[in-house]
Amino acid sequence: MIGSGGREHALVWKLAQSPHVTQMWCAPGNAGIAQERTSKTEKPVECVPISAEDLPKLLAFAQEQKIDLTVVGPDNPLALGMVDLFQKNGQRIWGPNQKAAQFEASKVFSQGFMEHYGIPTARGGTFAEAASAKKFAESLDGKCAVKADGLALGKGVLVCANMAEASKAIDEILVGKAFGAAGAKIVIQEFLEGVEISLHALCDGKTAKLFPTSQDHKRALDGDKGLNTGGMGTYSPTPFLDQAQLNDVGRLILAPWLKGCMSKEIDFRGILYPGIILTKNGPRVIEFNARFGDPETQVYLTRLENDLVELLSASVDGTLGRMELKWSPMASVCVVMASGGYPGSYAKGKAISGLEDAAKLPNTKVFHAGTARAGEQIVTSGGRVLGVTSWAKDLKSAQRAAYAAVEKIRFEGAQFRRDIGARAMN
Ligand code: AMP
Repeated sequence: MIGSGGREHALVWKLAQSPHVTQMWCAPGNAGIAQERTSKTEKPVECVPISAEDLPKLLAFAQEQKIDLTVVGPDNPLALGMVDLFQKNGQRIWGPNQKAAQFEASKVFSQGFMEHYGIPTARGGTFAEAASAKKFAESLDGKCAVKADGLALGKGVLVCANMAEASKAIDEILVGKAFGAAGAKIVIQEFLEGVEISLHALCDGKTAKLFPTSQDHKRALDGDKGLNTGGMGTYSPTPFLDQAQLNDVGRLILAPWLKGCMSKEIDFRGILYPGIILTKNGPRVIEFNARFGDPETQVYLTRLENDLVELLSASVDGTLGRMELKWSPMASVCVVMASGGYPGSYAKGKAISGLEDAAKLPNTKVFHAGTARAGEQIVTSGGRVLGVTSWAKDLKSAQRAAYAAVEKIRFEGAQFRRDIGARAMN
């Protein structure tokens, strides 16, 4: 496993349950991942101190250990061409190759692709210089999202309510180079109103299998106030689409997407994760990601009933058409506990207590994100620290269970939202 966040802990936890797995390593991993064991052989998962972006070292390690399957969690190694490098060297690896990862690595590419293949998206334009960008923003009365083309640590999107804000955003990215080369071009989209949901589809180059719905909570504070973050909590399923509507959305987006991939010879084997706004005129894709969402993964994998090794293998081998995804009817809720100050600056090294008590609770799993070991103690080491996840017969019970587990855990400065899942119940 490549990566070190909550998503990767959830993937390790689920993969380790598979009878196909005899031994597992995670580069670089975290303190929670290091506590997992493979179900079949009871071997501890070993964390290896290699950065997720050090492709040559990762390749050498995979070759040395004769690893059967490498699974990539984060977007950066995919955009850097990790999958291409491993394949060239005969190593089996799961995730989209560099060309396919463009769906996330370039918003300009994705916007053009969606428009060309008729995937419902926001009205938008692509610009490399400020004057024409501002002209387009004016045509939208400044109500728009200004997006840096490339990967910008999840910070490259500026949502604007008027022309003054739009003008400032355009200048920041194109003139001030706030995101460096990632902002050499921008996409401007009309501002869309509606409920935002996350979709995931597992793909094997020709088939795409849709997951149930989930919803992230991007803002730092209750009631969707505060700054944008990597995600403060999720739940699944959402009540905003029933199964028939979800199938319709899937067809509307995935059918033209697959057709476009075929005609552009894009061999996408991995997770396609479209961000969607349900507008009054129908669903609109606002962006594509090319990997599992974090913290969407935590709620999806606590509901998934399939053997994940078998699913990822089918995705690599192009045999997904034969598989059926099976989901528990239970609802799952993940509450992120973050360091005080996140998403701004925050202290690290705060001792975390109560993890053992939380682990005793039924139908609950505390996924680690920014944690490290300091002697006998587990301490904070990142912005998002833990993803406390519970599942139960309905959303309300799952929410109650997740917050009961959160109450057991303490570290100095801990902050979390108290309203994860509330939108679904109002
Ligand atoms: P993205 O990384 O493109 O998903 O954008 C980050 C966040 O900005 C999204 O989760 C939305 O909340 C918001 N956003 C992006 N594009 C739009 C849009 N066209 N209309 C409204 N909100 C948007």
